[in-house]
Amino acid sequence: MLFDPHIHMTSRTTDDYQAMSDAGIRAIVEPAFWLGQPRTHVGSFEDYFLSLLGWERFRASQFGIRHLCTMGLNPKEANNARLADGVMELLKLYVEKDGVVAVGEIGYDDVTPHEEKYFMAQIELAKDAGLPILIHTPHRDKKRGTERTLAVVKESGIAPELVLVDHNNEETIESTLNAGCWAGHSIYPHTKMDEQRMVALVKKYGAERMLVNSAADWGVSDPLKVPKTAKAMLEAGIEQAAVDKICWNNPVAFFAQSGRFDPKEFGVELSVDQRELFQGNSVLRGQTPRTDAK
Ligand SMILES: [Zn+2]
Repeated sequence: MLFDPHIHMTSRTTDDYQAMSDAGIRAIVEPAFWLGQPRTHVGSFEDYFLSLLGWERFRASQFGIRHLCTMGLNPKEANNARLADGVMELLKLYVEKDGVVAVGEIGYDDVTPHEEKYFMAQIELAKDAGLPILIHTPHRDKKRGTERTLAVVKESGIAPELVLVDHNNEETIESTLNAGCWAGHSIYPHTKMDEQRMVALVKKYGAERMLVNSAADWGVSDPLKVPKTAKAMLEAGIEQAAVDKICWNNPVAFFAQSGRFDPKEFGVELSVDQRELFQGNSVLRGQTPRTDAK
């Protein structure tokens, strides 16, 4: 069983869900993020949050995949002062919803004062809600951005075991692990991290607090990067137990700290009934529904 702990399925198709299910993915976390184009109304955030809790969770379930999400004001849109405070008000309600397992993705993008203000405010929100946080680290000047991120985390007083720092690479992994945080790695098709570099990191740093995700979204990305990386790790001689830890047990353990799901129940296969509807809608277009025998 595989877990993709960072994927934006809102931007993906049912073909992706089918391929992910066929490749062994049984659980995902969809962090709230930006949509490629800035939103202009607070209400657009609310409808997006509702879709993560409703329609997207339903779509995933139709392919046997458990869907959890994180709620947050992403760093890019934290720069829009006109909207940010309204979104923060919404978040107070939405972090309490069923299936929300962290506050995220939060952190820095361009490392602006606004980003910092809402990053710190959302760490406080997570502390109040008793939730872990999922942190996005900047893609430009990653090393400095990550160092600064870790300094803010430390100063906030949130327990490091409640912190997942994402998009790590060779430059940042040691700082993240040394800070006591969990380390996410996004595996991309052409740039940034790839499968072989991930194999090398696991050989060097082991499986403890290590996670792998696809970070697939509306851009060039691959929703099968978790299964592909798991395969590459096995082919490189990394033990099955370590691969299982990185690609299933670690994300389950990290997000179970939210107290919002039972990790034992999580390991049981979902049975699929594609005759089910969500508010009257189905993912089907007239084809024969998949129904798993009970
Ligand atoms: Zn993301």
